[in-house]
Amino acid sequence: MTIGILKDSYGRAIRDLRVSVTDKCNFRCFYCLPHGSPEETAPKSQVLTYEEIEFAVSVFVSLGVEKVRLTGGEPMLRRDIETLVSKLARVPGLKDLALTTNGFNLSERAAGLKAAGLRRVTVSLDSLKRAAFQEMTGVDMLTRVLDGIHAAQRVGLAPVKVNAVIVRGHNDEEVADMAAFAREHGVHVRFIEYMPLDSGHGWTRERVVPGAEIRAAINERFLLVAKKVERGSETATRYRFADGSPGEVGIIAPVTEPFCGACSRIRLTADGQVRTCLFSKVEHSLRDVIRRGASRAEVAEYIESVVMQKEPRHYINETFFEQPARTMSLIGG
Ligand code: SAM
Ligand code: SF4
Ligand code: SF4
Repeated sequence: MTIGILKDSYGRAIRDLRVSVTDKCNFRCFYCLPHGSPEETAPKSQVLTYEEIEFAVSVFVSLGVEKVRLTGGEPMLRRDIETLVSKLARVPGLKDLALTTNGFNLSERAAGLKAAGLRRVTVSLDSLKRAAFQEMTGVDMLTRVLDGIHAAQRVGLAPVKVNAVIVRGHNDEEVADMAAFAREHGVHVRFIEYMPLDSGHGWTRERVVPGAEIRAAINERFLLVAKKVERGSETATRYRFADGSPGEVGIIAPVTEPFCGACSRIRLTADGQVRTCLFSKVEHSLRDVIRRGASRAEVAEYIESVVMQKEPRHYINETFFEQPARTMSLIGG
């Protein structure tokens, strides 16, 4: 099978596709879907079926996408996600298949996901303290999420990555404790700056904890050494512990250290819209193209034309910045 190179108009190769499989979620992380906020979810008829997702992914892969990450909303809420995983694991040419989850039922399902062909999992965990976890996510599920992380490790969904969105006044004092967790359990903890993508529009610059501050807080307790990896299009700057402890930390600083120049990402929403940037103001309905019976070649041509419209960068730091209408849970983080 010939694999192409999908390039945008700035010459960036698109190799990373994030597929949101549902816009529904059972958590209410205030930086995403604030507590009590209703979900404006798409009617079932508009949500891509597993067959449609498999078809779309196979075309993306034939064009040069190497890595697919399943996300949402909460992807584990989509019925029998293992079936989709096993379909995608068989797509010829796909090099990496991962999933991002809030971890609420991972302890029961990690083994099934691994057996279906999942390679890696990322679990969101914003705090190691029960009260702060509940305050940030709206649910009292810290123990379940921790159990999920350990189950994923046991079945070999490794390395397990843990995502923590750091927000001033909520969990910024816990950064070094989370690094200690990475060491103790041999996981990769990725600290993420808060981005203006929350449906409650509660984002302010003051609430962003800059990557540099996160790095300094960890270094004060555990000396970090930058990992010699080609950063390329990776979102995280990665560090190991100087004393040789297991685990790793990553810092994802899209607000204070943007990495748009090397962006390799594109997103497909649960209702079949291609988003060429997290902050896109326009979407492109791949669902309509697929549902009108377009051939594989026509779908490929459509995707190529959409990718050419990819935005150069985000404008969070400009005075004219406006938050996109769809929020993280609807876009697929
Ligand atoms: N529900 C799953 C979960 O939470 O892992 C997958 C979807 S969630 C939208 C994907 C990732 O986006 C999570 O790790 C979450 O912490 C991150 N995220 C959500 N809103 C964010 C925001 N406003 N800024 C930065 N990251 C955010
Ligand atoms: Fe749900 Fe994930 Fe958003 Fe939290 S970050 S509300 S778990 S979609
Ligand atoms: Fe890529 Fe847009 Fe994110 Fe920049 S803001 S890294 S261009 S998706």
